Amino acid sequence: RGVVATGMAEAVMAAQAPPDEEADECLREYRYLLSPDLLAGQVAFITGGGSGIGFRIAEIFMRHGCRTVIASRNLERVSEASKKLVAATGQQCLPLSIDVRQPQTIVAAVDEALKEFKRIDILINGAAGNFLCPASALSFNAFKTVIDIDTIGTFNTSKVLFEKYFRDHGGVIVNITATLSYRGQALQVHAGAAKAAIDAMTRHLAVEWGPNNIRVNSLAPGPITGTEGFRRLGGKFAEKSSLFDMIPLQRAGNKTEIAHSSLYLASPLSSYVTGTTLVVDGGSWLTSANSFSALLGIASSSAK
Ligand code: NAP
Repeated sequence: RGVVATGMAEAVMAAQAPPDEEADECLREYRYLLSPDLLAGQVAFITGGGSGIGFRIAEIFMRHGCRTVIASRNLERVSEASKKLVAATGQQCLPLSIDVRQPQTIVAAVDEALKEFKRIDILINGAAGNFLCPASALSFNAFKTVIDIDTIGTFNTSKVLFEKYFRDHGGVIVNITATLSYRGQALQVHAGAAKAAIDAMTRHLAVEWGPNNIRVNSLAPGPITGTEGFRRLGGKFAEKSSLFDMIPLQRAGNKTEIAHSSLYLASPLSSYVTGTTLVVDGGSWLTSANSFSALLGIASSSAK
């Protein structure tokens, strides 16, 4: 019995969510699971680092000794985020404005980051846009915009980092993707197609850039609480309607969990891992309903 009880206690711990904050605020408490100097001396360039998942990735990396550059279109947003991150972690954080659709803005930001920190070790491609919309109602321009930000933006940023630093020094790239295309998620042709193309890019670039000591992986989150994605894509509705009971781990994930998995992929813990996708979704894509009519209901109620 003692053995069973111990086993159960470990099993509960194994899938227990670490603490998180709903808003774009730093964690009030943090318990280290890994060495606090795991990323000491390193620098991470995080697109979309001013909010949601990207913000928490920046925080967890900084708590592990990393300096960060957080970059997105809204300079005020990244500047505010940077102040919070520095206050909570005592590490340096440089906020910069970029539009990943415009390579010259990325070039300018990477130049500035290198001037400030002299190195960049990690690139997190987190910038993205998404909304629920049936293909029949999606404008040509809306589809193109999502591909432009997610897919082309990821290529643009990866290529600039490669040319400016990674080609000669090595580096790690983590592309934040999604599981939407695995089962053809309804109302998500734009984001599903965009993220599937990024997963392909992950494999191509891992092959081409492996000899340059560059690792490239994707991280595909499931529904993650406290994010814009969760709010826009029906997460609140799903939570209220007990739809997460269908997920093998019986719950949504949180931003800290995505940050921990990013930490694994960005650190030397995964030194022999490249060209793959780490799915961090509690098993969600295997079992969740993909009901067109139910999702249409969510889309119209979240649009109100
Ligand atoms: P979020 O807070 O809206 O993050 C998106 C970020 O991208 C924002 O900080 C935004 O900042 C930036 N961005 C958008 N367009 C940009 C552009 N053209 N150039 C530069 N930056 C741009 O949403 P999130 O839910 O945390 O999502 C983060 C990542 O996780 C995304 O890649 C998303 O697809 C992925 N994901 C999320 C979930 C989820 O449940 N939340 C699930 C699966 C995958 P600005 O507005 O300042 O530019």
